[in-house]
Amino acid sequence: MNTTLIENGTIVTVDDEQRVLTPGYVLVEGDRIAEVGAGTAPAALRTADAVIDASLMAVMPGMVNAHTHLFQTFIRGLADDKPLLEWLKAAIWPVAQALTPEDAYVAAMVGLVENIRGGATAVIDHQYIHTDPANDDAICRAAEEAGLRFLLARGWADTNYHEAFMETPDRIVAETVRLRETWQGRGDGRIRVEFGPLIPWGCTDETMQRTHDISKQWGAGTHIHVAETRIEVEMNLEERGSRHIEWLADLGILGPDMQLIHSVWLDERELDLIAEHGAVVVHCPVSNMYLASGVARVPEMRDRGVTVALGTDGPGSNNSQDMLETLKTTALLHKVNTLNAMVLLPEDVLWMACRSGAVAFGEPDRIGSLEVGKKADLVLVDLDTPLAMPVHRAPSALVYNVSARDVDTVMVDGKLLMRGKEILFLDEKALLDQARQVCQTLFERGGVVVE
Ligand SMILES: [Zn+2]
Repeated sequence: MNTTLIENGTIVTVDDEQRVLTPGYVLVEGDRIAEVGAGTAPAALRTADAVIDASLMAVMPGMVNAHTHLFQTFIRGLADDKPLLEWLKAAIWPVAQALTPEDAYVAAMVGLVENIRGGATAVIDHQYIHTDPANDDAICRAAEEAGLRFLLARGWADTNYHEAFMETPDRIVAETVRLRETWQGRGDGRIRVEFGPLIPWGCTDETMQRTHDISKQWGAGTHIHVAETRIEVEMNLEERGSRHIEWLADLGILGPDMQLIHSVWLDERELDLIAEHGAVVVHCPVSNMYLASGVARVPEMRDRGVTVALGTDGPGSNNSQDMLETLKTTALLHKVNTLNAMVLLPEDVLWMACRSGAVAFGEPDRIGSLEVGKKADLVLVDLDTPLAMPVHRAPSALVYNVSARDVDTVMVDGKLLMRGKEILFLDEKALLDQARQVCQTLFERGGVVVE
């Protein structure tokens, strides 16, 4: 079995005690963490197949980007400064209608490289552009080749939505079953597929029930945008007479298997319902600020014991995939919103990105911390830079100082995806050249004029 020793680093374990070992070491055997220790690595471990010197670096668990839309990589910057519904009409829908599997593959690959460069080792992609069903396969193929952990939440809408993206219930089920049969467990178990109903106003009660019944049989989760903007909650009140979380509870499908993306416009009762049913919230602060959607009541969720994970959301509304930026934004947004500087500490935010992210991803026992027996998904971040030094507390530096440009090494399942800031699984420059070409022809087909 292949072994790698990572030594002399500051080990930010994000374990239950949030231990930080300065210095410390991590031994990787195969795809698992075999040892985590404080101080200098014992001489016997230095016979490992590979030894990585992490001096002046933080070693942290790979983060989970618990919500994105990778196809939007080419759309970023195209419709800045608009609220959600106008943004959809101006940028997302015209380009998405012209998307081919090749576009989807290249957009996803650029987006995955960006995720890795930002310290994410697991990504949940809410993918709802099925104008060609092979788009979904192309995106899964990119994830398999990149080698990170990947959950395709296959998006769907069967009412009210843009007609190019709506599907019949039978097609939604058949396609998701097909994708699951094709991709579930591929990449040594790193790739999974589940249902991703898009938004309450685009999903009928019947298909919500039907897809949820299938998910239960699979033991899989359900990934859905809820209460992102006030107007969407008003639409639900008008149409169904209930707010978004009430609607899910009334359908009998609110539970720990439900990932509630955004969850901005919630009332007290909805916060209580989420806590009672053990559902998971995925907070996307940069997107919520970018689209002027609002501020999710994250501290109140956490006070109620709700699991709150973090996501970037799609690059169309962020405009990056940088989880390190999301860490800092999360802390700052809630401090200023509550006028309480203590409301979220760096350790809390790291917990959200790693441990709560692992819950949202459905693998809390396998990923999310540097502990013996867990998967060897970890990230080395350079702290010896003018941006971060002197480092008094590594969790603080990781949340408030460093950026994606400081991420040095990324490992998933014990394999290096990036080393010394170089992506190892492809020629990054060639990918960017290809992306520029593909993007230009996509915009021509979509009739999008960039002013
Ligand atoms: Zn989204």
